[in-house]
Amino acid sequence: MRTARRVMMIAASCLVAVALNANVSGTAAAPEQAGSEPLSKTYRVTRAKDVEFQKLAPFKVFDNLYYVGPGYVSVWLLTTPQGDILFDTAQEPYVDHVIAGIKKYVDPKDIKYIVLSHGHLDHFGGAARIQELTGARVVAIDQDWKMIEDVGSRPGRDGSPPPRVPKRDMVVKEGDTLTVGDQHLIFHWTPGHTPGVLTTEGITVYDGGKPYKAIVWGGGGYRGGLKDAEDGKASTDKVATIKGVQVNLQIHSWAEPVGYPGGGVLERSLLLAKRKPGDPHPFVDPVTWTNWVKRAQDTMAKSVETEKQKAAAAK
Ligand SMILES: [Zn+2]
Repeated sequence: MRTARRVMMIAASCLVAVALNANVSGTAAAPEQAGSEPLSKTYRVTRAKDVEFQKLAPFKVFDNLYYVGPGYVSVWLLTTPQGDILFDTAQEPYVDHVIAGIKKYVDPKDIKYIVLSHGHLDHFGGAARIQELTGARVVAIDQDWKMIEDVGSRPGRDGSPPPRVPKRDMVVKEGDTLTVGDQHLIFHWTPGHTPGVLTTEGITVYDGGKPYKAIVWGGGGYRGGLKDAEDGKASTDKVATIKGVQVNLQIHSWAEPVGYPGGGVLERSLLLAKRKPGDPHPFVDPVTWTNWVKRAQDTMAKSVETEKQKAAAAK
């Protein structure tokens, strides 16, 4: 009995290893999980600068949704029979990797829109090249178009030439909608992390034909100061009013203890690879989403109080 159980345990752990290699292996190096460290931490912290390691093999998440980003920042490809939508683009030196991932699943010319979550280079750095390749419209909020233009007009930190940035294209504002095939997207202005964070509601993903409502929250938290904290709080409260969210398409994988309970994108991708017929889809998790947003509301309320105290002490 004991032996049998042990054999089963070994078999199970081999399955995990196989799933890990099949699903999230880099194109050059197999991922190594450093002890019990979550995979998202390995990608965002421990091996953040390891370019070849970051080149995660792209993977299918739903019938119509694929992950084509490097390991530390998400790029989501949403497909419809009438054209595809890309959420974020990563940055150099990963843009070729993202393009290869896109080509694995669709004809790049079928991408009609590139939706940018916010004006930080790690999310929009590939937009100019991918727009050139696809002819897609690039979508962002006015304030973050300004950020993108600023980034494109200044030399890099090390004095390198300014990065290539997309030209101001499609400007959306709170409540604007976009229909592509069966997708009816609703855009929300949720500033705080940057002045023009763009949150996309109304994404429908299908699992074996069954629809689920997904969201891309364009960036939470705030950068510091009372104004940003108040913006961040108002934005979090706005996100909390969006009902019926079942799937959180994170812009960065980030797991516990500081990140998403139950695992971020990468941790859930391991569960997805091990999923058996009839098992629930590990990305469909409305309860965690609701609790997470509540927690973010509490955190932002506390941040506003802290910033108020700081402001009062500085007077
Ligand atoms: Zn950011």
